[in-house]
Amino acid sequence: MDERTAMSLERSGPLADDRHAAQRWLACDGPMVSISARGWRRRPAPHPSGQRKRTVTWVDDGGDPVSLGAFRKAVESAERHAGPGAEVEHELCTTGARLDDAWCRFLAERDVLVGLSVDGDLAAQTSAEGVALAHRRILGAAQLLRRHGVDCNVVCRVHAGNAGRPQELYRCFRDEIGVRHVQFLPIVERSAPVRRGGHLRAGPATVSERTITPEQWGAFLVAVFDEWVRRDVGRQFVKIFEDTLAAWSTATRRPRAARAGGERLPLDCRCCPVLFACEGGRPADRFAESPDGEPGLNYLCAGYREFFDHVDQPMRVMAALLRGGRDAGAIMNVMARYERERPAVWSRA
Ligand code: SF4
Repeated sequence: MDERTAMSLERSGPLADDRHAAQRWLACDGPMVSISARGWRRRPAPHPSGQRKRTVTWVDDGGDPVSLGAFRKAVESAERHAGPGAEVEHELCTTGARLDDAWCRFLAERDVLVGLSVDGDLAAQTSAEGVALAHRRILGAAQLLRRHGVDCNVVCRVHAGNAGRPQELYRCFRDEIGVRHVQFLPIVERSAPVRRGGHLRAGPATVSERTITPEQWGAFLVAVFDEWVRRDVGRQFVKIFEDTLAAWSTATRRPRAARAGGERLPLDCRCCPVLFACEGGRPADRFAESPDGEPGLNYLCAGYREFFDHVDQPMRVMAALLRGGRDAGAIMNVMARYERERPAVWSRA
């Protein structure tokens, strides 16, 4: 396994989601290693040149307590094995439930970037009481980290219970928790498999109750985007918006992923005008059937289509600004002016 390959975890569920979040969100220039109560799983191999900067991502899912002592040992061991001259950066994805002054002092001392995983917590609460409680806990963790000078971001899972509160969540992360980088991850859980043609198969109708619907996912992204594009471009960083802008900004917006995630995409994807940005969505969610009955379509396809259609026009403007050497944030002035003078121009945005 080469050094850019994330080391596999033996667990599935929330921890795996955290791992994916960390893998996708945080730029990796080295091996990723997970840590659990059983200790860290594998040592990163020394970099042959010993010169490059290397990033090690640690995942602490909150359900499997990691002591500060174990984490300290793992960090020190990673640094010892990094090779002479190599600079090691550590990133921790955590619920923040066990953070205290001692943890934060160590995180600050080692300059660890912390991704606060908002799951089973603020994002999972559906009652006002639960939201308030979870909110206090996340806020407390973020404040503690900030007090100790530790950088932190948020990874938020979106599901049927919180999908109706896009602006509330986004504003909470921005205004109250005060993070600049946010990643939203849709929760898609397949429940019991169904028997089809003599075989047990999971079908689109067998997702759990908590699973977000494609329509909810599309509406959620659109609502957050509308707020972000009018006031936060260049100030707040939402992973899917940054990725989408990068896709719109590339000179050739040719579909380049007829085969994505190691599998051939269905015809609907191969002919899709937003394939260059969507790339068929997460491989794990490609269990729906296309209208023609072809398997392998992403369960959230309709949501992605709604989002990418909605952002097309502003993305074109931002891409043009960037190509012209200007700041993409100028879109906010452009939109404000056009909305005042010619509101119909942005009717789709
Ligand atoms: S929007 Fe739907 S059809 Fe288009 S690439 Fe994504 S999953 Fe495929």
